[in-house]
Amino acid sequence: MRIVTARVNHETNTFSPLATPLSAFSPLWGDEALAAGRDATTALGAFIRFAEARGARVAVPVTAHANPSGPVADDAFEALAAAILEAIRPGCDAILLDLHGAMVTESHDDGEGELLARIRALAPNVPLGVALDLHGNVTPRMVAQCDALAGFKTYPHVDMAETGDRVAAIVGRMLDEGLRPACAFVHPPMLAHTLRMDTRVPGPMRDAVRAASAAEARPGVLAATIFGGFSLADLREAGVSVTVTAETQAAADAAARDLARGLWAARRDFVYTQAPLAESIAAAKAALAGPGHGPVLLLDHGDNCMSGGTCDVMDVLAAALEAGIEGIVAGPICDPAAVATLHAAGVGATVELGIGNRVPLPGLARQAPLTVTGTVAALGDGRYVITGPTYTDQLCGMGRAAVLDTGAARILVAEQPHEPWDLGVFTASGIDPAGARVLILKSRMYCRPVFEPIARAVVECASRGVTSSDYGLFPFEKLARPIFPLDADAAWTPP
Ligand SMILES: [Zn+2]
Repeated sequence: MRIVTARVNHETNTFSPLATPLSAFSPLWGDEALAAGRDATTALGAFIRFAEARGARVAVPVTAHANPSGPVADDAFEALAAAILEAIRPGCDAILLDLHGAMVTESHDDGEGELLARIRALAPNVPLGVALDLHGNVTPRMVAQCDALAGFKTYPHVDMAETGDRVAAIVGRMLDEGLRPACAFVHPPMLAHTLRMDTRVPGPMRDAVRAASAAEARPGVLAATIFGGFSLADLREAGVSVTVTAETQAAADAAARDLARGLWAARRDFVYTQAPLAESIAAAKAALAGPGHGPVLLLDHGDNCMSGGTCDVMDVLAAALEAGIEGIVAGPICDPAAVATLHAAGVGATVELGIGNRVPLPGLARQAPLTVTGTVAALGDGRYVITGPTYTDQLCGMGRAAVLDTGAARILVAEQPHEPWDLGVFTASGIDPAGARVLILKSRMYCRPVFEPIARAVVECASRGVTSSDYGLFPFEKLARPIFPLDADAAWTPP
């Protein structure tokens, strides 16, 4: 038996000016991909373990993951797709793919749908199972190609391997019992806010995911998934959806319809109304004056690294400084020019420079860099090993890094956008984040498992970046309208 499995993950923010070339994926090919994937807590890892446990020969043509950014370059998509197709071409018994579901390429709005259609053209009858991210913008074209489909049930995401196990188990029954599963897809016309998708706390997404888990206990239902979707994507099918894989089409359709009805009924709960930045800064000052220990976290969700933000919008730091807050640690801010200036100056030098606000944001007003004066406190290569719960033990890098100490703030500047998902982001540059009074992070969710436990309070802050929660800022052209909450007349009749 020969099983082909691969991982290609990209969440595309079509409003982001950040390019997505092949190098952004840091792809590993063939034996290197197999070795890297085997022990990983990803769906790919689960697929490799499934195949090897069955004694199958495993081909892993590629594993490739890029942080969220703008549309994937055509040559990158073609290289990734070609590797997978070449591995399938000689023939195989099953195909298991670890995809995201919200990949847009320069030429294809539905990146995964295009990839899956090409695979189906080559291998029309081979069992094909796909694991997706909870933020996938799932399309009918994707679902039509799959025999088995499931997405994560957690956000922050911690169940990648379990999702792979669920998909692999269905494909296993196809191989062993000749099961021919059916997939259903329902897409009520609604955009949800990422900040309303936390599955750890009471709220609409936790309720929806629990309903999906309950649906999986129904006779014949094999996998039921609520996709929150990724709303910062201008394509026809962006938004929430439901998929169900079941033993029969009738069972799949019924469960998917019921789950979608529940989503639509809860649509107002999926709307996040952001506070003006001035209110958030005032809330931070109040928290500083109140009880508790550790820093106040200011989460800059308008320029969130893991949604395609440029990580150089300076609104929150500027407002905090303006308000007279001291003891700030902020970063990482992506500004390669500032890093070069600080490295050239050397540790201990006093420097006045502009930081951030360098990348033009399509459709959004351009701000000037934030001018600051301070002492170069640390310089480094920006590399560290994750010690926290997300991607534990992984070696990470943010390009070269530097810390400028202005007195009121220590600003960590890096050459690449980088998610503050681990204390090592700061400790690698000599900063103990627990010692800050205020910690400004370009993050909305990934930072929370690590930074919330050391914080006295969390304050979400709006800024004028390409990951703003104010969807009215963005020039949607392809999105199917009307859609809730952008359009007052959005309506839906369940299928
Ligand atoms: Zn996600």
